[in-house]
Amino acid sequence: MQRRRFLQSACAAAATTSVSTDATDAAMSQEIIDTHQHLWDPAVIKPPWLQSAPAKIQAKLHLAEYRQATEGLKVTAIYMEIDVAPADLDREAEQVIALCQDPASGTVAATIGGRPDAPGFSNFVKKHAVSGKIRGVRQVLHGAVTPAGHCLRPEFVRGVRFLGTQGLHFDLCMRPAELMDGVALAKQCPSTRFVVDHCGNGDVTAPVPEMEHWKRSIDALAALPNTICKISGIIARLPEGRDPLDLAPIVNHCLDAFGPDRVVFGGDWPVCLLGGALRTWVDTLTKIISNRPAQAQAALWAENARNFYRLA
Ligand SMILES: [Zn+2]
Repeated sequence: MQRRRFLQSACAAAATTSVSTDATDAAMSQEIIDTHQHLWDPAVIKPPWLQSAPAKIQAKLHLAEYRQATEGLKVTAIYMEIDVAPADLDREAEQVIALCQDPASGTVAATIGGRPDAPGFSNFVKKHAVSGKIRGVRQVLHGAVTPAGHCLRPEFVRGVRFLGTQGLHFDLCMRPAELMDGVALAKQCPSTRFVVDHCGNGDVTAPVPEMEHWKRSIDALAALPNTICKISGIIARLPEGRDPLDLAPIVNHCLDAFGPDRVVFGGDWPVCLLGGALRTWVDTLTKIISNRPAQAQAALWAENARNFYRLA
């Protein structure tokens, strides 16, 4: 089993290398804003889910490791919360704000974790937003504690509306079957901007009816004026041995639905390691978008993120 697995990944690596020599050169000269950088050190804060995660992402995966993973790329990063226990939310925010305040870190802003339906949510947000480093909030909605409809409860909607009053966005990270909950939430919060994480978690291995439902949901999200789409994450669920270029239909549907000005790039490192290295994802995406206008490519890699996240 081990040997078979090794051979499969060796073949996948070889296939990726052979198609992407040009892609690698292009990626290395392109300015990139990675809007979805996770960093964790389990000795400091251990998110509960990490306990049962695959071994390859259980270690400390922090700034030094991120630098290795992005060596040769011109990357600026925006931190993405890591679904810590509610008791650790303040500590996570404080640590990432300190990181953003260090010019040497390369991490310039953050989407922090938060619970929009918690009684103290507005105070929590204000306390950290005063740093000037926070751009938005996310609560992962695909876990066991957030069943379908969770984000449409009145107290949750109230919290997400509050984010809009502070100029902050909310990241939608949810099961693809529940994306229409995201549509309903975004409609109820017209003054809050939303980022649809990970191409709405589209899955290349899903049966056709599920794929069709995902496509219609992406179209419905794209039809709203207050949403953008983050092209990220999907490589983590790429089955072993599958060509990363098989992700093209998902990427292309999102790019076409949202248009060239409402899409941003996300690395989703180190979660991406479950399907491939960050460089594999960057090279794959470079290849997938290579026939689009140069201006649209630059917008996806950096320009749109610079505008949306208000980077200097
Ligand atoms: Zn992620």
